[in-house]
Amino acid sequence: MRVLLVEDDAMIGAAVEGALKDAAYAADWVRNGQTALSTLACQHYDLVLLDLGLPGKDGQEVLAGIRARDNPVPVLIITARDGLDDRLRGLDGGADDYLLKPFEMAELLARMRAVLRRKGGRGVPLLGNGVLTLDPATREASVQGGAPAQLSHREFSLLRALLIRPGTILSRSELEDRIYGWGEEVESNAVEYLIHALRRKLGSDVIKNVRGVGWMVSRNV
Ligand code: CA
Repeated sequence: MRVLLVEDDAMIGAAVEGALKDAAYAADWVRNGQTALSTLACQHYDLVLLDLGLPGKDGQEVLAGIRARDNPVPVLIITARDGLDDRLRGLDGGADDYLLKPFEMAELLARMRAVLRRKGGRGVPLLGNGVLTLDPATREASVQGGAPAQLSHREFSLLRALLIRPGTILSRSELEDRIYGWGEEVESNAVEYLIHALRRKLGSDVIKNVRGVGWMVSRNV
């Protein structure tokens, strides 16, 4: 799952970027509004974390730009501006939630999960396809009746990408895109390696290979 962080403060940006990577998100960090908009024009993101006070184009303008292009990406505003007007403008302008600085990383991650859940049309916090269940809060996966298995960050990232749309085939490059952020080196067989590790933990038939196309998990059974 790929997240765009738009934040001009070096310290906050680095802390949030680190927390996102620790939580198994592929995170890209940009420091101004113009770069945010040009990046969003050519790369798919699952969520945008948007600071309001930015040099040049501010966060409200970035948000307006995103929605003006009909981009439905969920936007969570992170801001030190605590004026009611700013918050209302953000929400009315198409943001999905906001969080006031300073905040705890645990709360940011929980709000991100909640926004992603709502956008996915799911009321329950677990991802699954009837056989396989994944808990985004704990990174535990379990197969019907079995004990939960703890997944590594990347294993979790890959399985989450597949479980968001069971029945959809994702190619190697689509999976890499959801697992790795900018500047992260991708080994040529990284996807196969992660799938092998997941099958060892969860059983060989949880992830299906569609030869020459990619991988999928079955639609709800
Ligand atoms: Ca700022």
